Amino acid sequence: MAAYDYDLFVIGGGSGGVRAARVAAALGKRVAIAEEYRFGGTCVIRGCVPKKLYVYASQFPEHFADAAGYGWTVPEASFDWPTLVANKDKEIARLEAIYKKNVEGSGGETFHSRAVLVDTHSIYLVAEDRTVSADQILIATGGRPAPHPALPGHEYCIFSNEAFDLKELPKTIMIEGGGYIAVEFANIFHGLGVDTTLVYRGQEILSRFDMDLRRSLHETMERKGIRILCHAVSESVRKTPEGRLDVLLSSGQTLTVDQVMLAIGRLPNTENMGLEGVGLELSKTGAIVVDKHSRTNVDNIWAIGDVTHRVQLTPVAIHEAMCFVETAFKDNPTAPDHDTIPTAVFSQPEIGTVGLSEDDAIERYADVEIYRASFRPMRHTLSGRDEKMLIKLVVDGASRKVIGAHILGPDAGEMAQLLGIPVKAGLTKEDFDRTMAVHPTAAEELVTMYKPTYRVKNGERV
Ligand SMILES: Cc1cc2nc3c(=O)[nH]c(=O)nc-3n(C[C@H](O)[C@H](O)[C@H](O)COP(=O)(O)OP(=O)(O)OC[C@H]3O[C@@H](n4cnc5c(N)ncnc54)[C@H](O)[C@@H]3O)c2cc1C
Repeated sequence: MAAYDYDLFVIGGGSGGVRAARVAAALGKRVAIAEEYRFGGTCVIRGCVPKKLYVYASQFPEHFADAAGYGWTVPEASFDWPTLVANKDKEIARLEAIYKKNVEGSGGETFHSRAVLVDTHSIYLVAEDRTVSADQILIATGGRPAPHPALPGHEYCIFSNEAFDLKELPKTIMIEGGGYIAVEFANIFHGLGVDTTLVYRGQEILSRFDMDLRRSLHETMERKGIRILCHAVSESVRKTPEGRLDVLLSSGQTLTVDQVMLAIGRLPNTENMGLEGVGLELSKTGAIVVDKHSRTNVDNIWAIGDVTHRVQLTPVAIHEAMCFVETAFKDNPTAPDHDTIPTAVFSQPEIGTVGLSEDDAIERYADVEIYRASFRPMRHTLSGRDEKMLIKLVVDGASRKVIGAHILGPDAGEMAQLLGIPVKAGLTKEDFDRTMAVHPTAAEELVTMYKPTYRVKNGERV
C-alpha cells in the first residue's frame, strides 16, 4: 500500500467527500481531497445553507404583518438585498473554512484543484499540474442544475446557483420546475416582494409527496399571491428592447418578467474526468453506477452522494460516506440504508414528511387507515392569518404500523426529523396513542387523532 502516495484520494469537497476524507484521516489513513470550487460543496455554498438563510429572510414580511394581532405596531419595513447577499456570503465563507479545517485537523491533505482520473490509481491535479497516486479513490463530485439547451433563449435564464448572487432583486420572476428547489425559490422570491410565477409541466407541484399536502400547499401559495401555472412549459425566451424577458409558454400565454430561473432537475458531475478512460460504468443520465456498498465496477474506485443519483440530499451523502469508510477501511461492509428518509420542503408553509404517501400506501397495502387533521394553528388565531395546518398519518391496518407521516405548516421540517424515528422504528398507531401530548402545540395532533378519518380497503375508500 505504501507504494501509493495516499491510502485514499477523494475527488469533491462537498457534504459526502469531506465527511469521508475527515473520518478516514481520523483513522490514521493517508488521505487527500481535491475540491475545484469551494469546500463545503453544493449544500454549504449554493444549496441547503444559503437557501435556508434566504427562507428566513423571506418570512419576515409575514411576521411583521402577524405582529399586529398581538398588539405590535411595526413601522414600515424595508428590505436591502445586497445586505442579505453579503451576510450570507460571510456565513458561508465561515462554514467553508470549517469544512477545510476539519479535514486538515484530522490529518488529511486538501487541494484546491480540479481532479481527473489518469488510471485506476492515478489522479491528475489540474491546478498543480501533477499526478498523485492512491490505493482507493472516492468520487463525490455531486451534481449541477440541468441546462435546457433546446429552449430558444436559454442563455437568458438563470439557475439556482446564480439566484443566490443576483446583483439586484428582480421585480418579477418566472421559475420553471415543480420540484422542491423550484417551490422553495418561488416562496423565497415572493416573500422578498418579487412578483413570482411558477410554471410546471406536470399536473401538480412536488410529485412524490403526498397529494393532500401538494394540493394544500399549492392553494396556500396561490392565496399568498404566487401564480402557479401547471401543465405548461416555456417554449422560448426573448429579450425585449427594454431588457426584460418575454417567455412564450406552451399554453399560448406570454409572460414578461425580469428574470427566468430554470429548476428542471440536476445532472451528475461526471464529464471530462477521465471516467470513461478507466472503464467506469455510467448510467444513461451520466450518474456513476455503484453497488450496495457504493463500489463502482472498478474495484478500488467508489462513489457517493449526488453523483450516484440515488437520493440527492445532504444527510444521505454523509450517511453514504460513513458507510463507505466502514466498508473500505474498517473491514465492516455496511450498505447505506435509503429506506424511510425524512425530508422537508422549506416552502411557506413548510412540508415535513417521512414514509409513504397515501397513494403509495394504497398501492402496497390492502388496508390503509388515514388519520387527518386540518386546523388553524393557534398562532394564527390572533394574527388572523387565513392559513391552515395539515397533519396526516398513514397506518397499515394489518400491522398497525405508522407507515407515513405528513405535515404542512410551521416547523413541519423540525417535526419530520422527530417523526423519522418512530416511523423508521416501525412503531404502531397504538404507540402514538399512548404517548402523552405536549400542550398547547400543533404537533399534539400527532398523538390525539384517535379515530381514522377514513380507510382504504383494497383500493376502495370505506
Ligand atoms: C438549491 C439547493 C437546495 C438544496 N437544499 C437541500 C436541503 O434543504 N436539504 C438537503 O438535504 N439537501 C439539499 N440540497 C441537496 C444537497 O445540496 C446535495 O444533496 C448535497 O450537497 C450532495 O453532496 P455531495 O457531496 O454528493 O455533492 P456536492 O455537495 O455537490 O459536492 C461536490 C463537490 O465536488 C466538486 N467537484 C466536482 N467535480 C470535481 C472535480 N473533477 N475535481 C474536484 N472537485 C470537483 C464540486 O465543486 C462540489 O463542491 C439542495 C441542493 C440545491 C441545489
